[in-house]
Amino acid sequence: INCSIHPSISSFSMDAAVERLKTGFEKFKTEVYDKKPDFFEPLKAGQAPKYMVFACADSRVCPSVTLGLEPGEAFTIRNIANMVPSYCKNKYAGVGSAIEYAVCALKVEVIVVIGHSRCGGIKALLSLKDGADDSFHFVEDWVRIGFPAKKKVQTECASMPFDDQCTVLEKEAVNVSLQNLLTYPFVKEGVSNGTLKLVGGHYDFVSGKFETWEQ
Ligand SMILES: [Zn+2]
Repeated sequence: INCSIHPSISSFSMDAAVERLKTGFEKFKTEVYDKKPDFFEPLKAGQAPKYMVFACADSRVCPSVTLGLEPGEAFTIRNIANMVPSYCKNKYAGVGSAIEYAVCALKVEVIVVIGHSRCGGIKALLSLKDGADDSFHFVEDWVRIGFPAKKKVQTECASMPFDDQCTVLEKEAVNVSLQNLLTYPFVKEGVSNGTLKLVGGHYDFVSGKFETWEQ
């Protein structure tokens, strides 16, 4: 099996999987959408979110759920290990265009980068051996965005067990992302003008805690 879709395989479970999406929407439609027309009606005309949120693609950390962010509140990017790469038109146009649109068109007031406990991407970053071949097409190269944080943790927390180093790295990688945000000229300008604030966050789903900090 390669990455293409094979309709003949597991058709029953595929039906069930699609059915799950449909029933999920029906529940949202009847319990939320239909019950709050005053809330959803203005959103048809446009969005004016106050936040731009970077969160991990991890299925356990949806920020709309964990932070109670409503539709229209947060312009959101989710990727492996909630990384913000530094400004690069060729390599990172997907992230760059979202930041540009959020800051320049939507005029978000806060960009928050949220790391989380037991992040597989952070674990992958800390596990990378210098000079070893990558085993994925994209993953290692992507998580290397957090390389400066990895070096810091390996230097300052060398005596810690691997899992504890991962926890520190989850937060230090957020700090690298906050620094990288400043390489986008429109972000730097907003921060200098005081119209934009950069916030770091960490959601620990093991202990059930959420912390934030400003750099
Ligand atoms: Zn993660």
